[in-house]
Amino acid sequence: MPYHGVISRYGSLMDLPPHTHPVTLLEGNTPLIPVQRLAEEMGGGFDLYVKYEGLNPTGSFKDRGMTAAVSEAVGRGARAVICASTGNTAASAAAYAARAGIRAVVLVPEGKIALGKLAGALAYGAQVVQVKGSFDDALRLVVEISRKHPLALVNSINPYRLEGQKTAAFEICDTLGDAPDWLCLPVGNAGNITAYWMGFRRYNAEKGTALPRLLGVQAAGAAPLVVGHPVERPETVATAIRIGRPARGEQALQAAQESGGRIIAVSDDEILAMQSLLAQLEGIWVEPASAAGLAGLAAEIRAGRLDPRAKTIVAVCTGHGLKDPDIILRRTPNILTIPAELAALEEAVLG
Ligand SMILES: *Cc1c(COP(=O)(O)O)cnc(C)c1O
Repeated sequence: MPYHGVISRYGSLMDLPPHTHPVTLLEGNTPLIPVQRLAEEMGGGFDLYVKYEGLNPTGSFKDRGMTAAVSEAVGRGARAVICASTGNTAASAAAYAARAGIRAVVLVPEGKIALGKLAGALAYGAQVVQVKGSFDDALRLVVEISRKHPLALVNSINPYRLEGQKTAAFEICDTLGDAPDWLCLPVGNAGNITAYWMGFRRYNAEKGTALPRLLGVQAAGAAPLVVGHPVERPETVATAIRIGRPARGEQALQAAQESGGRIIAVSDDEILAMQSLLAQLEGIWVEPASAAGLAGLAAEIRAGRLDPRAKTIVAVCTGHGLKDPDIILRRTPNILTIPAELAALEEAVLG
């Protein structure tokens, strides 16, 4: 059967109102890639998979939630959507609004968003507004304006975003034939971990699949769910999870606890080291935030905290590496330049 996106495939398991009018870019259906060399590098003894969400239409998992939120908004006659974003939500909202023929307004923290994301939002024709402040300030503003004016809010406080995002849990169960023992993923505003838990619970109720333990991973400089209070000035290279006041924080903590899992923090160095390892060992380039789940898994294994009975582990890699090329180029030493002569090439390559 041809593929028509997540609402078409999983709509019967999504709580969307009858007025929903599907707007799709054929998001979802992303690969679950076995990464056994990486698993061996971490110590081995389990099967490790990457759910590569960077292969969605705008390069991140946000498209799963955006198809649902924009479809619902368009179905009730919305002419404009608005969101605050660390970047990927902005690009996704802009693309789905374009697809629907409506307006998109996106608020981003000034100077703190990765180049590929800003370019995306502009390319899809959104109105981009920079806020002198953090993501959390931008979110507060869009909540306020959407209460007063007919602008449909498509941040993950919009419940339909989670309805869309939970389809990734369905796909993982469909591919593996059951849920994994552990699911590792980055946590920022905490919508995604909440959505995964909704998805796994729904499949458990409908189809009797197991429930995984959830390992949510924050960046150490932006880890409100680990330190137990909001972080006023969140700082991390992983801009997608640079959030100090997660809108779905309570639900995320509850999901992790109910699952028998936990939420931990890793350093920026651990995140960047894992980004390199994944790219150079497996050929999968993800943006920094997307390496946090795997970095957290590696840290748990090193500390001897991973249940040795865990046989199947899935790490969600939330966004594509092309979103944030700067982070690689900044760390790269000068690239060798040679004259256009064979001898020079031989010297460079063979030493
Ligand atoms: C949005 C985003 C996250 C964080 O997801 P939350 O639902 O905010 O926890 C992680 N990685 C990437 C690439 C993202 O775009």
